[in-house]
Amino acid sequence: MSNPNYGVWRPMAENIEFNALESNSNAVMTVADTVRTTLGPKGLDKLLIDQAMNRHVSNDGVTILLSLRAIHPVARMIVEIAERQEQLVGDGTTTAVVMAAEMIKEGKRLIKELGVHPTKVVEGIESGVNHACQLLEKEANKITLNDIELEQIIKTSLSSKLDGEKLSSLVIASLRSVGKNAMYNGSYNFDKAIMVIRRTNMEDRTINGIVLERKRMDPEMPLEIKESRILIAKLDLKPVKESWLKDNSKYEEILSMENDRVIKSKEIVDAMLATSANTILIASPEVDQVIEDLLVARKVFAVRISTEEIEYLSRYTGAKAIRTIEDLKKTDILGKAGHIYEDEDNGVIYIENGLGRNMVTMIVSGTTKETSLERWRAAIDGVNAAEAALNKGVVAGGGSAELHVIEKVNNLRLKGLEQVGLEVVTSALESIMRQILTNAGYNGLEKVMAAKASPSGFGIDIDSGEVVDMWKKGVLDPLLVKTMALQAAGEISKSVLRIDKNLAAEDLSHQAVSEVKR
Ligand code: ADP
Ligand code: MG
Repeated sequence: MSNPNYGVWRPMAENIEFNALESNSNAVMTVADTVRTTLGPKGLDKLLIDQAMNRHVSNDGVTILLSLRAIHPVARMIVEIAERQEQLVGDGTTTAVVMAAEMIKEGKRLIKELGVHPTKVVEGIESGVNHACQLLEKEANKITLNDIELEQIIKTSLSSKLDGEKLSSLVIASLRSVGKNAMYNGSYNFDKAIMVIRRTNMEDRTINGIVLERKRMDPEMPLEIKESRILIAKLDLKPVKESWLKDNSKYEEILSMENDRVIKSKEIVDAMLATSANTILIASPEVDQVIEDLLVARKVFAVRISTEEIEYLSRYTGAKAIRTIEDLKKTDILGKAGHIYEDEDNGVIYIENGLGRNMVTMIVSGTTKETSLERWRAAIDGVNAAEAALNKGVVAGGGSAELHVIEKVNNLRLKGLEQVGLEVVTSALESIMRQILTNAGYNGLEKVMAAKASPSGFGIDIDSGEVVDMWKKGVLDPLLVKTMALQAAGEISKSVLRIDKNLAAEDLSHQAVSEVKR
């Protein structure tokens, strides 16, 4: 550790131990250690504190990892896989990190202690991961919306979360309420059918319909509309721009422009209302005050919305976004909703009984911003877990499914030293149950041995420490979460184990690297 520049600030790359494997794997372990104790229902929380002394308590792997400051570049790769896992399946981030760390630790041992060449280890990992995924697929059972297993999946996924039990019921109610409306191209896509919003001043609720966190454009507009005929306006609602006036404009010019503005505004409003719309959702960037006043006078319910909101509002109500005055003449542009109204106390607008595809909004509460955020994340995790389970099936949870494929993975025959690489994968498969149980206060290794001797689908009851049937106990995980986590862990461990030197580079910005390539 003798550094000639001790005490002088140096860029990170120069401070890296050049014994790459050792240094990289240590960095990975440090990061993995920060999240591994959160795994499973008895996992503990982390208190995150930033420089401004803001704090946040979290049990969510990806949230914790993303908030870590200034970490080793290789450890950052771990953060990236956690992030990717979160994007692809929305759950199982800690699982992915724990397995990656185990693979790297075991791989390093093979390379350093037994002198196995890294490429052999890497090939072994690749075959092992593929094989394990196929075996897990064979173990998986299909489920449907009405199966009890769906509830169990959600409960398992939320078991380590703040208030998980209560959130599970909320998630289940939402899923069943949208049901097949969330089917797109033969698989469930709840992103399109369930909105999750967080509020600190409202109760947990599932609402059949859309809840917009917005207010009417003007408080003098009607508070509610029954049999609402909805127009989604994206047209230019600022017919005359002040910027057209020159500095030295004459009074007459200004006057004629003002006249023009009133006439054009009236034309636009007339054209919009000629469609018989009584509700206008406005996504135009600017709205002329004259237009707003006319809408108030004509008792229209108007709300500003963002361009992103158009998609689902249009799906729910059947309205088509209108871009030009000419488009207003088309038929079938209006959407419908049985009831639209503003809840002034809570500052939200409800849209119910839409003509289009059914949607549900889940309101997740929290007494503070912090708890509502953590509960909101958890609710989304639950929805994601359910989606993965419905689309790809479920396996026994608590690390049981992983543990029971080990023997079959070991039966795989690879040539030569690649066979040794399989050990890396089997250690990772074993590490999940071990970590969950260690976190629950057991001797993880001892319990894993007991579970190993039990039939497939069995694992350890986290409360009693006894061997139980995980299917009977209802501790289940989505197959997809497991296979994705395993693949992600395989990817990262392969890259880390292949590196034999970390080098300080001059400039690796995107441009510099592509220049060199050319
Ligand atoms: P991740 O970020 O990987 O989703 P979690 O903290 O959510 O991490 O833990 C998920 C793991 O906890 C899964 O392997 C799941 O099967 C396990 N688990 C959940 N509930 C139980 C339980 N009651 N007994 C044993 N394991 C459980
Ligand atoms: Mg989870």
